[in-house]
Order: sequence, then C-alpha cells, then structure tokens
Amino acid sequence: MYPSAKRLQEFHPSVIREMTRLAIKHKAINMAQGLPDFPSPPELIRAASVAMEEGHNQYTNTWGIPELRQAISNNLQNLYDLYYDPEEQITVTCGVTEGIVLAMLSLVNPGDEVIVIEPFHDNYLPAINFAQAKPVFVRLEPPFFQLDPERLRAAFSHKTKAIIVNTPHNPTGRVFTREELNSIASLCREFNVVAVTDEIYDRITFDEHQHIPLATLDGMFEQTLTISGLSKTFSITGWRIGYVCAPTNLSAAIRTLHDFTTICAPAPFQYAAVAGLKLPESFFETQKQAYTTRRDRILKILEEYQFIVQPPQGAYYIMSDFSQYSAHADDYEFAKYLVEEVGIAVVPGSSFYSTPELGRNTVRWSFAKKTETFDAVEQRLHLKKHKS
Ligand code: PLP
Repeated sequence: MYPSAKRLQEFHPSVIREMTRLAIKHKAINMAQGLPDFPSPPELIRAASVAMEEGHNQYTNTWGIPELRQAISNNLQNLYDLYYDPEEQITVTCGVTEGIVLAMLSLVNPGDEVIVIEPFHDNYLPAINFAQAKPVFVRLEPPFFQLDPERLRAAFSHKTKAIIVNTPHNPTGRVFTREELNSIASLCREFNVVAVTDEIYDRITFDEHQHIPLATLDGMFEQTLTISGLSKTFSITGWRIGYVCAPTNLSAAIRTLHDFTTICAPAPFQYAAVAGLKLPESFFETQKQAYTTRRDRILKILEEYQFIVQPPQGAYYIMSDFSQYSAHADDYEFAKYLVEEVGIAVVPGSSFYSTPELGRNTVRWSFAKKTETFDAVEQRLHLKKHKS
C-alpha cells in the first residue's frame, strides 16, 4: 500500500463532520454541525438563480467580482469604520476555511509559532500544519471563557509569527471585549506579530455584546488579516463565499496563493452575495432577534435537563457541562450515547482543545435550528429520561 504524506499523521478528520455522518447513520437530530436547518433568504436564492440564467457560470476575476469586493468594502466601512481598498486589499475566497489556510501559508515559515486560543474551531490546526508551523495554545477557562492577559503574554515569544483570533467565538459563544482585544493588540505590536482574525459570526451577537474588528484598534491595520464570510450571516454554508482583507503587501501574497488554490469562488454565488450585503439593516435586526429566541430556547432546554451552561454572547453554539445530567466520564462516550440512544448528535468538547484532558465533561450544541428541531430535541430528552 502506498503511504500518504507524513503531515497527515498529525491530524484527524474533523470530529464535527464525523458527528454529522453519525447523525445521518442513526437518524439523529444534528445539533452538532454549525449549519442552519431553516431556509436561506429568498433574495439571495433569487439572485443566484438570476446570475446563472444570465450566464455568470464561468471563472470570475480571481480576486472576486468587483461588485462583491466593493460591497464588502462598503459593508466594513459602514459597520465598523474600517476601510479596505477593494482594488488591492480584498480577496474573495471559498469560505473562511480557505482564507485561514491562505493566511497561514502566506505568512508563516516552517518552524514559526502561531498562537491559538483554545477551545478553537477545527480548521486552525490543519492550516498551521500545512504551513509546517507550531501551534502554541492559550486557554480560555470555563465557566466564563475569558482571556487571561498573563497567560496570553506567556504565549508570545520572538518565534511567534501570528495569532488566530476568532470573535464571536466558536465554540464558547464569547464575544471578546475591547479590553481583551487591546491586550492581544498590544502584544502583537510589541512582538511584531500578525493577527489573523476569524469574524464569521460578526452579525450574530446578543444582548449588549458588540463585535469589534481587531484591525480597528490602534496601529493594528497594518498587522491584521481580517477574515470573514457569508456562510453564517446568510445561512448559505454550502455556497462557499468568504473573504480576506489585508494591507496591500500581504494581500498580494494571499491573492497569489488563492489563484493557484481555487482560482475563484463560485461565480453565481458571488453575485448573490452582493444582493445579501445590500439587504437593509432590518434584515440583520430581525435575524438577530430570531437567533436570540433560539439561544434562549436551547438555554431553557439544557437547564431543564441539568446541563451546566453560560448564555452565549454571540455565534450560534453553546458549550454544556453534562456531569449532572449523565454519569458518562468521557465526552466521546457521552456523545456516542446521545447520538445512538437518544437520537441527538452533539460535538465532544475535548475535540476543541489541544489535549483530551480538557473539555472532557462538555459537549457543544449548535442552535442554528428551527422551532420544530428544538421541539424534537426536547421530546427525545424527555422520552429518554422517563424510560430510564
Ligand atoms: N470559522 C468558524 C469559527 C466557524 O465556526 C466556521 C464554521 O462552522 C468556519 C470558520 C467555516 O467558515 P466557511 O463556511 O466560511 O468556510
């Protein structure tokens, strides 16, 4: 048998997507993967379909159609007073997933260190691995998952090239405060480190919590790659539209890599993305209200069944401690039980950490779900409780 490359020995297939495969196999409700089970906005679907009918079915400009880069630029300026030049500083990618890989490959040399805040989204370590760099972890402590400035400082060294910062944060639902982001920014300046941000949940925040792009902090524009995408804001995770905004020299490197990786993001969906970014503010407000209702519903269900939880401040995930609900000692065992015997798929908490010792009592739930899905989850938990 011909062996695969050595780099593959260092990481495993995504646990999140494995849980989705198990959900399908066991006909379980998929509360594991971050994909909405309600329809995408009709305005975007119509725009995609019109784009196909009008013949936008071939490769586009590699960096993305000019209309979309302009819409991304306007959007960032209107929302955050953050200006990127659409001509040179914005590249449309096949999702944030591609953006993170491009960021690592364009910034980092073999042996460099990249700081990762844990728990973390599962695409970061493979991207660091592709670049043959070394991850250095900074832990957010449950139950509140705040960033500890001392721990953060200890992770920076002369070998640090980049730090990946995801806010609103998957899987904890934290939205980092200005103070937390300032502590990252000041260390980036001191050690000349580039911040690679993942801001894919920027339009999904709750209560008083507000998203702050790191690039808007003092002196950070020149040393930040602002990465985001439309998968979550518009419930179009399968369309694969994201973007990387960068100062001009870094943008050129991103564009070169993107050119030889995917050529361009899907053409008709780029046109639909323009329609999405031009939707009135009322769309985003209504959506925020809908996500707040979903967050409150999952909190109520989990609290009723003795899961220990903190209200998410943003994104659409909740980490839950299951130790009072179940005697399972291990999160993988508990997730297996839940998918096979209760019919609900969740993600084992330790899969978001660098070591299986962390997150062992926790599982992550996605709450980008319609009302009927929450009803079914509640019913299955209820049935199991009263049978056992
Ligand atoms: N980043 C985070 C934090 C995510 O949670 C996800 C998906 O769950 C992604 C990136 C993937 O984004 P995209 O669909 O744009 O590749």
